Amino acid sequence: MIDTKHTIQFVDLQRQYQRYRQEIDEAIASVIEQADFVSGQAVKDFAENFARFCEVGYCVPCANGTDALEIGMKALGIGAGDEVIVPANSFIASAEAVNNIGSEVVFCDVHPDSYNIDPQKIADKITPKTKAIMAVHLYGRVADMEPISLLAKKHGLFLVEDASQAHGALYRGKKAGNFGDFAVFSFYPGKNLGAYGDGGALVTNDENLYLHCKKLANHGRIAKYDHELIGRNSRLDTLQASILNTKLPHLSAWNVRRYEIAQRYHRLLADIPDIVPPKDFEGEQSVYHLYVIRVPATKRSSLQEHLKAQGIQTGVHYPISLPKLAAYAYLGHLDSDFPIANSFMNEILSLPIFPEMTDDEVGYVAQNVRNFFEISY
Ligand SMILES: *Cc1c(COP(=O)(O)O)cnc(C)c1O
Repeated sequence: MIDTKHTIQFVDLQRQYQRYRQEIDEAIASVIEQADFVSGQAVKDFAENFARFCEVGYCVPCANGTDALEIGMKALGIGAGDEVIVPANSFIASAEAVNNIGSEVVFCDVHPDSYNIDPQKIADKITPKTKAIMAVHLYGRVADMEPISLLAKKHGLFLVEDASQAHGALYRGKKAGNFGDFAVFSFYPGKNLGAYGDGGALVTNDENLYLHCKKLANHGRIAKYDHELIGRNSRLDTLQASILNTKLPHLSAWNVRRYEIAQRYHRLLADIPDIVPPKDFEGEQSVYHLYVIRVPATKRSSLQEHLKAQGIQTGVHYPISLPKLAAYAYLGHLDSDFPIANSFMNEILSLPIFPEMTDDEVGYVAQNVRNFFEISY
């Protein structure tokens, strides 16, 4: 029983900075001293380091994860008149990127146990216009890539991984980033590997695709003025790369700690009948970007209020399924088109989780959740 009141942020980024302050400050200062701001040495180093971390052949650092999605799909030749299948529960970036390359989004419902795209429901969404399936590894868990890969092969479709929330997650012995034609990662500050601003990367095992994406992200060129194609400016800047290089060696340990916190939450919440905790599957390892429980829809906001009054921040990822967002109203979907995503959006609740969170703090959150449901240990 914890009697002192805590304030627990949903993600406390200051704690990590305080701990690694010296290394990070030195990395930043060195970039500034050398005035090596764009496409500097730290960017080249990060491309190599992150490819090694993901156990893939190639990495193209980009300005953010959303750009990386657009660049990769464009390089695959996906564009006007094409359709891309996207899960109904994700951050809007997954879908937005499809629209921004001139293609149409086709939403697919999610699986009730994994919260990721439901492989059983993908086949119905395939039309003669379908070019790709985008699997999003939501909350840190790799989507069920074996059946999805088989389906993509069978129908001659590209397979895209949005691994923005799943740096280092494992599925049947392989890391996120090794299942699709390419995968993207985001280094938005709150992600498992976060920059101090925006950042992203595309990874692939296909050398030609890598070279194409590298050009697209840098004005269509490799050397200074040899613009071979119409590209854009989507580079990771050197300051961000230097911060990411400093943090990357710690990422595996941070992911282990996130997993430990998740196991602790599992144990402390397992006997509350109103709660459905996240499931761990055999042969897979989530990196728990988020710890998402489900509670009855009628109790979610009062639970959030109760926790807030005890100093505990929570989140909802995401409060509106993608097909129900105003941005996608033009598709004219009914609630019944995506029964799982549309019912879960009212039940999901994300509890605080970040590597620097202490066991006491996890206990404090769990205790207050138990108090709300009037369940004692
Ligand atoms: C964070 C995120 C992205 C990309 O985000 P950026 O802010 O563009 O780096 C894409 N998809 C998902 C699921 C995300 O969580």
